[in-house]
This record gives sequence, structure tokens and C-alpha cells, in this order.
Amino acid sequence: MPQQQLITDLLSRKQPLLSVEFFPPKSAESVDKLLKAAQVISASRPDFVSVTYGAGGSTRDLSATVSKRMKDDVGLQVMPHFTCVGSTREELGEIVDEFYDEGYRNIMALRGDPPQGQTAFQVTEGGFKYASDLVAFIKERHPDMCLGIAGYPEKHPEAASIESDLDALKIKADAGGSFITTQLFYENEAYFRFVDQVRARGIDLPIIPGIMPVLSLKQIKRITQLCHSELPQELESQLSQVQNDPDAVRRIGVEWARNQIGELIERGAPGVHIYALNKAKSAVELINAARA
Ligand SMILES: Cc1cc2nc3c(=O)[nH]c(=O)nc-3n(C[C@H](O)[C@H](O)[C@H](O)COP(=O)(O)OP(=O)(O)OC[C@H]3O[C@@H](n4cnc5c(N)ncnc54)[C@H](O)[C@@H]3O)c2cc1C
Repeated sequence: MPQQQLITDLLSRKQPLLSVEFFPPKSAESVDKLLKAAQVISASRPDFVSVTYGAGGSTRDLSATVSKRMKDDVGLQVMPHFTCVGSTREELGEIVDEFYDEGYRNIMALRGDPPQGQTAFQVTEGGFKYASDLVAFIKERHPDMCLGIAGYPEKHPEAASIESDLDALKIKADAGGSFITTQLFYENEAYFRFVDQVRARGIDLPIIPGIMPVLSLKQIKRITQLCHSELPQELESQLSQVQNDPDAVRRIGVEWARNQIGELIERGAPGVHIYALNKAKSAVELINAARA
């Protein structure tokens, strides 16, 4: 089984690191459709793709299936996401060992969002409370693994302050994080301010900005509300004017993301992680724009 390249190694090259995030579909029948999208994206040669990890049951199995098929059938370098939700240490250990045996050497290590129907994260008895616990746990078991950790330019919704959130990020980085991928944001200043704050805390990990093109106004309002990211007035007003024209919404959303990416790379971001919403066309447009 071919070993995967470490993302830290990919980051040490001169060109920007370009990655695309997928989420597993709700049903096994939709996996083939998603793989077709992955195939289209694969042609534009992203450095890696990542696959999110659901809150339990069938979503988790689908997450593993999608990761494996993107790796083995499509030939992509895949980074699975992994969370603490609903698992004991023993179970987490078994899953991470399976990832390792499958050849994965990069994992996005997260605490996780609460399962549907629950409003707050609940610690599983015998499990972990914070992503930093999971990071330390994986590093102890597999020191050669490269671990992505999440960062929040506009603060994690549960954190009392940006200061306490940065303290938590420092603990997570010191536990063995290899690079930071950010939550989505629509104003680049949020990213550049965050980079300064993170550096001032003594964290020197690469910080990859996460960019989600707006493909629907209703959807993006829900997502930004959930993750407490600001939807700039200018963007919202442009989108509102054409909200009944899906093509125009998409055009404006992709153009905004394209401008964000251009400025981020020009001002020194090490690459971009595209939250592609499982849509190939916009992801390809953004990868090509990032390389232009
Ligand atoms: C790039 C990216 C990918 C994601 N992928 C997924 C996914 O696949 N599946 C999924 O379910 N969710 C995913 N999420 C969402 C993520 O799980 C949620 O944002 C979750 O609420 C927090 O996860 P975390 O890893 O940042 O947690 P943590 O780093 O543990 O932080 C959670 C909260 O606890 C606080 N905290 C952390 N450590 C400490 C400490 N030692 N002392 C006090 N307070 C502390 C933090 O300030 C924060 O408020 C993703 C998020 C990002 C940015």
C-alpha cells in the first residue's frame, strides 16, 4: 500500500497547498455520485482532499468508505477527519489504528460537533473532552502521523473570549498539532488578524485558510450562523439582489471566494482549503484561480 505524503512536507514546497473538503453523503447510494465529483476535481490536481467525520452510525461508516474509495479508486491523497464524539479511548484507539493500517498518515483531529438533536457537546464516559486530548493520544500511538487542528479566526462559538480560545489552540498545538486549518470566513482581515494573534501566542504552525464559496444564500446564512462567522453586508446585499437566480448567486459567491483566495495567497497564506460542499465545478474554478 503506497504511503501518503505528509502535509507538513507538502507545505514546505514553494507553491501554495491546495486542498478540497468533502462530506460523506447521507446514503450509500449517493457515494458513486460523490466519487464522480471527486474524479472531476482530481483532474485539477489538488494536493489532497479531506473527508469529514460524522457524529455516529452510518455517517461514520460512509465517511470511512468515501475516504477509502477516494484514495484507492480515484487515486487522491486523502486526509480523513476524526472526532472524539461518542467514543471511548479504546474505540478511538482502534479507529486510529485502522486509519494507520490503511496507509493514512495525515488526520484532521477534532473534538467534533454534537450529534443531531443535541445542542451541546457531551463527553463520552472514558472518552475525551477536547481535541488536544485526541491529538496527544494519536501522537503517542503513532508519532509519525501529521495532525491537522482547527483554528477559529472569529472565535469558536463556545469560547468565552478570543484570548481563551487562543490559549486552547496553544495547548492543542503543543499536544502535537502539525498545522492549523481555519474555520470559514468571508473577510480576509479576520484571517490576517488571527495569524498575528496566533503568532503572538508563540504558535508557529502553518495556518491554512478555509474558504467556502457561497452557492446558496439560505444555506450560507444557516452555516455562518452556526459557526459564528460574519457574512459581510456587501456580500449579503449582492446575493440578496439575485437570490431567486441560483446561477447568479453562484457566480457572485465563487467570484467572492476567488478574490479572497487571490489576496490570501498574495499576502503569504501557505495555501487554501476549499470547503467545496461536494460540488466539483466551483472547486475546480477556485483551484485553477489559486494557481493562476
Ligand atoms: C477545518 C475544520 C474541520 C472540521 N471537521 C469536522 C468534522 O469532520 N466533523 C465534525 O463533527 N466537526 C468538524 N468540525 C467542527 C468542529 O468539530 C467544531 O468546531 C467543534 O465544536 C470544535 O472542535 P475543535 O476540534 O476545534 O475543538 P477544541 O479544540 O477541543 O475546542 C472546543 C472548545 O473548547 C475550548 N477548549 C479547547 N481546549 C480547551 C482547554 N484545554 N481548556 C479550556 N477550553 C478548551 C475551545 O476554546 C473551544 O471553545 C471542523 C471544523 C474545522 C474548522
